[in-house]
Amino acid sequence: MLSCKHTIAQGTDYLDKELSFWRKVEMKMHLMICVNCRRYVKQLKQTVVMLSKGQFKQPSEQQVEQLKKEYQEVSSKQ
Ligand SMILES: [Zn+2]
Repeated sequence: MLSCKHTIAQGTDYLDKELSFWRKVEMKMHLMICVNCRRYVKQLKQTVVMLSKGQFKQPSEQQVEQLKKEYQEVSSKQ
């Protein structure tokens, strides 16, 4: 089973569909049982959509990193 840390670390790859089949299955399974990561992926998705719509001039890695950091802190407290 994937840990929250792994799930968060792979969040962007998951949305970019850059993960292998089994990785994706693992992610999905984790997301089914973990509300934290589900929330994270959802927010990450929204960020990515905003970026792709060009609402930000510079697609900012920073924003994604920030989000990642916040959730990593949350998941490490559990
Ligand atoms: Zn999790």
